Amino acid sequence: MSLDKATALVIRGTDFSETSRIVTLWTPEFGKVRALAKGGRRLKSNFDVAIDLLTVCGIVLIRKTSGSLDLLTEAQVQERFPQLRHDLTALYAGYYVAEMLGDWTQDHDPHPSLFEEAVVTLRNLGQPGVVNGPCLAHFELVLLRELGYGPALDFCADCGATLSGQGLAFSAAGGGVLCQACQPRQREKRPLSEATWRTLERLRSPGESWREVQDPHLRSEVRQLLDHYVTYVLGRRPRLLPYLGS
Ligand SMILES: [Zn+2]
Repeated sequence: MSLDKATALVIRGTDFSETSRIVTLWTPEFGKVRALAKGGRRLKSNFDVAIDLLTVCGIVLIRKTSGSLDLLTEAQVQERFPQLRHDLTALYAGYYVAEMLGDWTQDHDPHPSLFEEAVVTLRNLGQPGVVNGPCLAHFELVLLRELGYGPALDFCADCGATLSGQGLAFSAAGGGVLCQACQPRQREKRPLSEATWRTLERLRSPGESWREVQDPHLRSEVRQLLDHYVTYVLGRRPRLLPYLGS
């Protein structure tokens, strides 16, 4: 048993008893952690309102041996994202960020850069001048790559050939973009226009290239493709998927 401090994004919370809650926290230090917050349902508790969904807080945990829940002893708000409450598309996108972090990562498997990416995404969603779809798509592509599920975009997923942009197809089963020569061997595929392919590469780039993606048709193509890919790789449809805008 040890006492640890961490920064945490609250990604899930369920009532456990009259007074306690079980919270799922995503931390740069320890990855995903599930912890019992005793007294977490009382209005005036050690946790104040820190353990609300999509809040970043400074926490103190008592780590338990594997198999039992950690104990959350303290939580202080560090950052909230109030703009999400005024934009339903942004709010659903924020919930989807939490769902992805929860569903795609294992307990105690830290990815500090992904934590930073999630917080930056939550800061940007719903801000004036931000189109939520590309902002979220950037996060999805970064998450998938960080966790080893990123679709092949620069090279043919099958033969590794450099792609020119002509006659491309996208195959979730095949692991990404396929060159013309490899397409007959893969049944599960859909045509991929050069413009959509280049948009995917732009969305995946580090930094803020996603802001340049504005065209509604391309945004819609990207959303459909990501819906299909994420559902295929995860093996089921994420709950928030029907509520996401492009
Ligand atoms: Zn190929």
